[in-house]
This record gives sequence, structure tokens and C-alpha cells, in this order.
Amino acid sequence: DAKLQTMLSSLSPVARELDALPSGRPTTDNNCVKLNTNENPFPLPGVVMRSAIAALELQYRYPEDDNVSLRQAAAAAYGIATDRVIAGNGSSELLSLIYRAFLAPGDEVAMVSPGFSFNRKLAMLQGARFIEIPWSAPHCLPMDQLLVGPAKNSKFILLANPNNPTGTFVPLAEIERLVTRSDRLIVLDEAYVDFAPEDGLRLVERHSNLLVLRTFSKSYSAAGIRVGFGFGHPELIGRLRNIQNVFNMNVVAHAVGMSVLAHRDAYEENHRHVRLERQRVTAALADFGFCVTPSHANFLLARVPVGQGGRWWQAALQDQRVLVAFFPDAGLEECIRVSIGTKRQMDAFLAAVGSILRKVG
Ligand code: PMP
Repeated sequence: DAKLQTMLSSLSPVARELDALPSGRPTTDNNCVKLNTNENPFPLPGVVMRSAIAALELQYRYPEDDNVSLRQAAAAAYGIATDRVIAGNGSSELLSLIYRAFLAPGDEVAMVSPGFSFNRKLAMLQGARFIEIPWSAPHCLPMDQLLVGPAKNSKFILLANPNNPTGTFVPLAEIERLVTRSDRLIVLDEAYVDFAPEDGLRLVERHSNLLVLRTFSKSYSAAGIRVGFGFGHPELIGRLRNIQNVFNMNVVAHAVGMSVLAHRDAYEENHRHVRLERQRVTAALADFGFCVTPSHANFLLARVPVGQGGRWWQAALQDQRVLVAFFPDAGLEECIRVSIGTKRQMDAFLAAVGSILRKVG
């Protein structure tokens, strides 16, 4: 089709470049135990679910512009001023806004690596150079590398805490040291913080160069609804809201967001389960000969036993109808990442691991 070819040749260079890369999209298969994308295994609490259904009555109208009520509710729930809050269609929307706001072609951005791989794609879309700074130790920031080393010219620095895909956690004091010493924006992605010992929201009021990101996708069972928040200096938050799409969130997301904020106590058992199950599966995998990184998130990064690599294990588990994640680019060829699901799902995962090990001897 000549017309199609002409049309596609008009794609921007970056769109064509992306086309040549593997999609990196996770597998979805409803017949499998799905432990590859760190969702919460439990449904929304009943009261939150009912708010979603009630919101459909108003869906013939556009949602509220600039998410005012939701931002006010988040501000009240987290004890922060409303002009320090931005709401997003998942925290990924907020990540893309930051890239669009700060990066022109040729600029640099740095991430402590291995980290959340979506960031590499966002940098590429801006024509920016993506600089990966390796963790110096699991709980220690590569401070010199970030301040005076290869990241010194980056427009902002990305850091997830707890980190994905490692599950490791850096004490807040260490993060505050970086924020204090750096004159760049530090983006602290706290997608998994509800499973961790402490969070960085309070630092936002003390440091104008810190932006904290949160999501309801992991700890609040709302991955499919798409709700995320950013917290930062009012000037910064204002600039990000300026470049945001109108009506970026739908009415159901608004309603679920408000309802989750009002019922955060309904998740205590949910989070307790994740922590206990994380501990149980860590021990069980160690007994099987895996080397598991101690995790503060709702997933585990496990180095597979010597012999077969991570890709082989991912395929072998998929044959047993269990989906896990594998990260070939991040120096993690010998690892798989498994999300913490229900007890039943984790039993199925461990049974599959046991049966694979028996087969390979
Ligand atoms: N940040 C991190 C570190 C993540 O792991 C994820 C999800 N994989 C996200 C952000 C994006 O989450 P969402 O867009 O669902 O809020």
C-alpha cells in the first residue's frame, strides 16, 4: 500500500526509532497467575467500588477541570496545601509531564539504575540523553556520581523508593542529603511506599527542588482506574498543571480517588497480607536456591539458581501458567521479578518453581 508507506515515512525520527525497539509490554493472559506487573491482588473495598458505580451516572458530562476536588481531598488527607498537589491519570502521566516540562532535544536526564524502565522511553521521546547511574550499594545513593559525576548536567534526577525492579529502600535521611546538596529537581517516585518503613512527603515542604510521586495502582488496588498524585513546590506544580491535558482524568477515577482517600484505613489488612506474604515467599525461594533481594515493595527480585537464566525461568513459569517479569537490559539477566499476590497465587507460583526444579534435576 503506497499511501500507507508515504504516511509512515512522515513519522518523526523518534517514532521510527521506537518502532525498532522491543515493545517491552507485559503479557496479559487471564488463564495465568499474573505476577508480572505488581498489581494489588485484592479487589477495591466495597465502599470504594460503590463510589465508582455511582460516578457512572454523571459520565455524560465532562469531568471537573483541573481535578480541583480531588486535589483538595488529597491535600486534606496528606496534610499539605492544595496548590502543592497535581493529580494524574496514573503516576505515569505525571512522569511524562515532568519530561515534557524540563527536557528539550539534547538535554540530559539521570536515573539511579536499575530503575523503572518506562523512564528511558520518556527520555527518548524528548530527544534527551538518558544517563543511568548504578546504585553504589542497595541502600546507598551514588552521591558523587549524581552531584559532581556524570549526572551533574542532567535537568533532573529520578529515583524510586522503594525502587523497582529491585525492591530496595533508601533511608529518608540519605534522600534528604541528596536533595539538600543538589541544585536540580529530584523526582522521588514513591509508587511502592505504602509497603515501606517511611515516606518522603514531609520533605516537600522543606525543599523546593523535590517532587514526590504517588500512585493508587499498587497499594490501593486501583491499577485499572488510573489515579496518581504529585506533590511539590506550588510554582513547579503550577507549571506541570499548565501543560496537562484538559480533562486528563475521568469521572470514575475522580470518584475512586476521593473514596480511597476517605477510606485508607480499609487497606490495613491488605498491606499486612502483602508484607507477611513477602516474608514467606522470600524464605521459600531461598530454600529453593534463589538469592532474593530483601524487598520493601510488593514484589521480589530473585536471582535464579545457577544453570538457567532469568529468561529461561520466565518462559518455564509461563508454561506452568505463571507470569513473572524479566529485565534483560538492566544487568539483571539472571533475575526474575515476582509480584506478591494472594496466598493461593503465591502457592501456585512456589509449586511451579518446585516442579520446574525437579524437572531440571
Ligand atoms: N513508578 C514506578 C516505580 C512503577 O513501578 C510504576 C508502575 N509499574 C509506575 C510509576 C506507574 O504507575 P501508574 O502509572 O500505574 O501510577
